[in-house]
Amino acid sequence: MSDWKLPLDQLRQPIELEEDYDGHLYAPIEDVTERLNQVFDGLWDVEILERDFLEQTDETLVKVRVTFHTLEGVPNIVKEALGGNKVVRLNKNNEIKSLTDSFESAVSQGIKRAAKRIEVALRKQFQNPALNNNEPTRNTSNNQSSSQNQNDRSKSNGDDLDRNKILKKVEQVRKDRGLNEREAKTMMVNSFNKAGTKDCSTKQLKEFLEILQKKRCEECREEISKKVVGFCKNNENRFDGKILCMNCQKEY
Ligand SMILES: [Zn+2]
Repeated sequence: MSDWKLPLDQLRQPIELEEDYDGHLYAPIEDVTERLNQVFDGLWDVEILERDFLEQTDETLVKVRVTFHTLEGVPNIVKEALGGNKVVRLNKNNEIKSLTDSFESAVSQGIKRAAKRIEVALRKQFQNPALNNNEPTRNTSNNQSSSQNQNDRSKSNGDDLDRNKILKKVEQVRKDRGLNEREAKTMMVNSFNKAGTKDCSTKQLKEFLEILQKKRCEECREEISKKVVGFCKNNENRFDGKILCMNCQKEY
């Protein structure tokens, strides 16, 4: 799938919204999953990373990871999102009607949120043709991938030195921020669809460093101001702890 215009257009087709009992509009989960099946040929799956019942707020909460398997030659798109649902209690005895149903609704919300975020990911792939071509996925041959990067890297020794400096700095900033390796890896997958630093070009590493330094948006890599960073910190829960540009904030 070297042309991302078609899936992007498919994804952007409006979904007919329905109204719930409180008059809120929502996209039915069946329509969202059908759309995803259409765009990804059914090749997407959901993992539930965490689940919790919050007694204080009477809510179920889940963290999901949705993996969208793209076709050969393009990295898979992985998105994590939170989903929540207020449990329904019976009038007569105030008991919870069905915790399972509530968890299921929470998962649906997580999938919808993750699906919104893939639009950004697809747009990036589409706008940056370098991401489309010649960059094999983790599914295809690793040898090919590393030899290609090797070629990239051996262009000049100066670049190599630069690269090592950046890698050291990335490690340092990661530790300073108290992020573990897994968390940093998730950030890298979210912003570059790359599983590790060795798969990144030097330019991408520089940008990743700036993401870690909170100079760029975690999702679209746009440069951001300190004011925006402050806003994200004040709204940690809403943004899943992410530092996002104003545009990407809208999706939360
Ligand atoms: Zn952004």
